[in-house]
Amino acid sequence: MPEDGTPTHGATIIMRCLVCAGEAKDLTPSNFDGHVIDCPSCGKYEIAGCTWGKFQSASQPERAAALGNATSLQGFCRWPTIKTINF
Ligand SMILES: [Zn+2]
Repeated sequence: MPEDGTPTHGATIIMRCLVCAGEAKDLTPSNFDGHVIDCPSCGKYEIAGCTWGKFQSASQPERAAALGNATSLQGFCRWPTIKTINF
């Protein structure tokens, strides 16, 4: 059995991508205000905590459009961050 020192509770959480509903990884660090998702289709993206309510009430096409908008504004960030202005 491999021992990589990863605590059990830090194991990768598989979830549904919030944009395309495909299988994705939840990379959200603990104590992080927001969500970090790694989706094979959409790539890695972050949803700011303050955007969560808006994001949840958005339709799937609106979420995809917001991600596209965030990607175009990504700049020097590691991954696009979906914020309220992206809707
Ligand atoms: Zn996706």
